[in-house]
Amino acid sequence: MSIIAEHVTKIKASEVSLVSAKALELERQGKSIIRLSAGEPDFPTPDHIKMACIKALCDNMTKYPPVIGIPELREAICLKLKRDNALDYTPSQTIVSSGCKQVLYNAMTASLNPGDEVMMAAPYWMSYAGIVQLSRGIPVFIPTRQEDGFKPSASALEKAITSRTKWLFLNSPGNPSGAVYNAEDLKALADVLRRHPQVWILSDDIYEFLVYDGIKFLSLLNVAPDLKDRFLVVNGLSKAYCMPGWRLGYAAGPEDLIKAMFKIQSQSTSGATHFCQWAAVTALTGDHSFIPIHNAEYTDRRDLVVSMVNQINGLSCRPPQGAFYCYIACGTYMGKKTSGGAIISTDEELVSYLLTEAGVAAIPGTPFGMSPYFRVSFATAGSKIKKAFECIQKALGRLQ
Ligand code: PLP
Repeated sequence: MSIIAEHVTKIKASEVSLVSAKALELERQGKSIIRLSAGEPDFPTPDHIKMACIKALCDNMTKYPPVIGIPELREAICLKLKRDNALDYTPSQTIVSSGCKQVLYNAMTASLNPGDEVMMAAPYWMSYAGIVQLSRGIPVFIPTRQEDGFKPSASALEKAITSRTKWLFLNSPGNPSGAVYNAEDLKALADVLRRHPQVWILSDDIYEFLVYDGIKFLSLLNVAPDLKDRFLVVNGLSKAYCMPGWRLGYAAGPEDLIKAMFKIQSQSTSGATHFCQWAAVTALTGDHSFIPIHNAEYTDRRDLVVSMVNQINGLSCRPPQGAFYCYIACGTYMGKKTSGGAIISTDEELVSYLLTEAGVAAIPGTPFGMSPYFRVSFATAGSKIKKAFECIQKALGRLQ
C-alpha cells in the first residue's frame, strides 16, 4: 500500500516548478533557454526595503516572531488598507504569513469541511485548485470567454453555486488572464452573492498595483461594503514590492476566521521570518515611487508581447490590463505535425515543443483550466521577449 495520502496523489506539483526543472535540465545540457515562465518581477527589491531588513538583522530581530505577525506590521497593513483601498480593519482582524500562498492554505484549511466547494473563474491561478484539494475541498470552475476579457458573467456565477459552495475566489488583476474587474463587473457579482449568504468571498489582491492604461484597482468591498462580514482580503509583497523570495503575505477579515488561521499557523510554520516582517513595515509605509516606474516598463513590454504575438500566424492575445502575463490562444496549432512526425494535440505538447525547439519556457493553459492557451510572463527584459518571440515564430513555422 502506498504511503502517500489518497487526496495528495490527485494533486500535481505546480506547473511553474515543473517547467523550471525542465528548462534547467536543458540549460545543463548546454542549451540556452529564455524563461517567460516565472511569475516574479525581474526588478530587484528596492534598496530602502533591503536597508530596513539589514537594520532589523543588526538589531537582532532574529528570535521567533509572534505567530500572527509583529504588531507594527499588522498596524501597517491596516494603514495600507485604509490608504490604498479605503477599507477599515483593526490589527486584530489581520494575520501575517509566509507568503500569500500560505495565507490561502490557512484560510482553506481553517474553513473547508470535506466536500465543500470553492468557485474560481477559469482560467485561474493553478495553485488555487491545488490548495483547495489539499484542504479536502472541491474546486468548481466558472467558465469565461476570451471575448469577455476572461471575466465571468453574473449568470455563470449563479449557475456554479450549490448548497455546498463555501467560497468564491476573486483575483483581479488576474493570473494568468490579466483581467481587471471594474465597478460594473463587481456590482453584478455582488448582486448574485447577496442572494447566497452562505458563500464567502476571498479576494486575492496581490497584483493590485500592477495595472496599466490608467486603470485603478477596485475591491469588491468598495462597491458592496455590506459583504464585509464574509469577506477575506488576501495580499502579499511578492509582486509590486519585488519581494517574492522574502515570503510575506497577509490577510484581513472577520476575527473568527483570522483566529482559526492563526491556530493552523501556530501548529505548522509559526510566524513569518522576523527580520523580513520589519522590512515589510518599510515596504508598506515607505517610498512607493518605484511602482509607477516599473509599471511604465511593464506597459512597454506588454505592448511588445501583444504586438509580436498578433504578428504570428495562428496565435492571438488581448492586451491584459493588469498583472504581468499574456494568455495566448494557440488552437490553430492543435493537430499540427513536427518535423519528427509527432502530432501536437494539447497546449502542454505545444509548450514542450517550444521549450525544446524554440528554447523558450512558457506555461501551458491546461493547469490554468482553459485550453488551448499558453501563458508568458513579461516580467523579463524587452530584448529577451523580442528574441523569444522571434524563436517561437520560427519554431511554429516549421510545424505542418
Ligand atoms: N496569488 C496569485 C494570483 C499569484 O499569481 C501568486 C504567485 O504567483 C500568489 C498568490 C503567491 O504569492 P506569494 O508569493 O505571496 O506566495
